[in-house]
Amino acid sequence: MTRWSKADVSTFYEMPFIELIGKAINAHLQHHKPNEMELCTLLSIKTGACPEDCSYCSQSGHYQTEVEKEKLMPLEAVIAKAKNAKSDGATRFCMGAAWRNPPKKDFPKVIEMIKAVKDIGLETCVTLGMLDDEQVNMLHEAGLDYYNHNLDTSPEHYKNITTTRTYQDRLDTLQRVRASGINVCCGGILGMGETREDRIEFLLQLANLPQPPESVPINHLIPAKGTPLADMQPLENMEFIRTIAAARIMMPAAMIRLSAGRTTMSDEMQTLCFLAGANSIWLGDKLLTAGNPGFDHDVQLLNKLGFDNFTHA
Ligand code: SAM
Ligand code: SF4
Repeated sequence: MTRWSKADVSTFYEMPFIELIGKAINAHLQHHKPNEMELCTLLSIKTGACPEDCSYCSQSGHYQTEVEKEKLMPLEAVIAKAKNAKSDGATRFCMGAAWRNPPKKDFPKVIEMIKAVKDIGLETCVTLGMLDDEQVNMLHEAGLDYYNHNLDTSPEHYKNITTTRTYQDRLDTLQRVRASGINVCCGGILGMGETREDRIEFLLQLANLPQPPESVPINHLIPAKGTPLADMQPLENMEFIRTIAAARIMMPAAMIRLSAGRTTMSDEMQTLCFLAGANSIWLGDKLLTAGNPGFDHDVQLLNKLGFDNFTHA
């Protein structure tokens, strides 16, 4: 397995744009079918009032945002959402909860949700915050396919973004998940005031994990009203695309998900991200509490580009 150095990564990250994209396309074609887009759906099963202070997050209880708090969703409502996602064409159903770590009383309910979603015939993913060994084992026994836990940015910049936990806390949970045999979904957010060096350091952290993540969500910051990052200037598009291309080269076998921020991207910008190696998107109108392009628009875009997903539609 390749262990990447900062010097290697800087060399291609800073290449002329077309050369970089060419390198990313080669990596993509060696490991993936070019006309396949992975479609996942994300549901917030417990919203807001999170004790963590992630400065990008509208669900943090530390900030006055427009998000309405909601307790854990009932099982039946989750099942109905999962059935809709399946009939829309999603293959994976991800459930997110705004927790530092899962509370004892709610954890068994989440286990029931995972089992029920699997019974519908969907892959399952949950993102519940930090986990201990017992919780990881219970998730594994329930048949969970993926656990999401994002590193978000470089270790240096992380301290400016979240103060209620450390980078090492995140790495510890990731290590537990990996050891259990559950697949790892881990990525981050671009455009949180980080430098290019931070973006390279962030990718190095992901690609140099003992085993790189199977799934890598790359979010474009959605500046949320009331959060400390509400007025952040958007990251330049070409820089965002460069980061996707670098992720594809460094983690050629991973599914790279173009995640939050697609509502403000043109079809052409999204297409450049797909050319750079993104081969997974969220399907559905909502991403936890944020917006996402509607189903009809995504179907149109994927059909225009000749992806196989909706050729039956
Ligand atoms: N509480 C869990 C945790 O942090 O691991 C899961 C929920 S959290 C909301 C899921 C992910 O959404 C975050 O790790 C972050 O990468 C992304 N996210 C949250 N707010 C965002 C924003 N304003 N813009 C872009 N991505 C965001
Ligand atoms: Fe809580 Fe997750 Fe939001 Fe951080 S990103 S405040 S942990 S919900």
